[in-house]
Amino acid sequence: MPTPLPPDATVVFNGEFRPAADARYALEERGVLFADGVYEVVRYDRGRPFAMQPHLDRLAHSLDGIGLNGVDVEAFHAWSDALMQRNHLTDAKVYWQVTRGDAGPRDFFMPPPEDQHANCVVMAYPAAPVARGSVPTPGGGLIVEDCRWTKCWIKSLMLQPASMAKTAAKNAGCVEAIFERAKPGTHESHITEGGSTNVFIVRDGELHTHPNDGWILGGITRDVIVQSARDDLGLTVREACFTAEELFAADEVFVCSTTQLNPLVTVNQRRIGDGQPGKTTLQLRRSYLERVLAD
Ligand code: PMP
Repeated sequence: MPTPLPPDATVVFNGEFRPAADARYALEERGVLFADGVYEVVRYDRGRPFAMQPHLDRLAHSLDGIGLNGVDVEAFHAWSDALMQRNHLTDAKVYWQVTRGDAGPRDFFMPPPEDQHANCVVMAYPAAPVARGSVPTPGGGLIVEDCRWTKCWIKSLMLQPASMAKTAAKNAGCVEAIFERAKPGTHESHITEGGSTNVFIVRDGELHTHPNDGWILGGITRDVIVQSARDDLGLTVREACFTAEELFAADEVFVCSTTQLNPLVTVNQRRIGDGQPGKTTLQLRRSYLERVLAD
């Protein structure tokens, strides 16, 4: 379960510290009416952010993707550092959100850029420190139709499909939903990614994951794992599409995101490999944690 914001937490609202309880959006904020906004989650460990620059770059890319200009993206770094100190935190998941703002009467048409007043929010959720020898939590995955839009590279607030998919997975006793979709022009369905994670399979010692081609969110953890697999473990990594059948036949399956790298030991109740967290998954998890700790 995610840790809630402490009752006395401070947040950053448009560059100013505010008690979380007092920070409020207008009813006609476009983020509320149209999910018109984007977000990021950055891991702070022992007071330091992990992969800050890639998160800033991805935020800028997402803002570009929704045509929301003029946001001071670099400010999120300073705001996050300041917020960690203000809340006396060293380990946290820091959430950033940018919404297009209150644009008056509910209207599908976006206001002209000069009338857009984005709201920028930073919140820090306390987290346990990263521990070198921590044990992963293996669980099951549930394959669901990837009914999201075609711009999955944008880290959009429009999370209804992911929320529904993850809830369906949870109700089936699983820890993650695995999206599968047939893309236009193809007859075969492929696994894209998890509800809020990227998916990897290990087969015959090689690592496979969906290419970062716009049909998935380019996960920052995914990039670290691909690099670490190649550089630290000398593995072959194939960024190529794979089917559900190929996933079922894999030796290992795991999912990752900023806060986790966890094995899936069943998918749709079918056992993956020998039903235990795999050797390669555990090695990659160790080298990922080392990189977080060394950053
Ligand atoms: N895919 C999706 C759909 C996600 O929501 C996330 C996490 N927000 C990820 C992948 C993983 O991205 P990251 O490693 O940058 O947290």
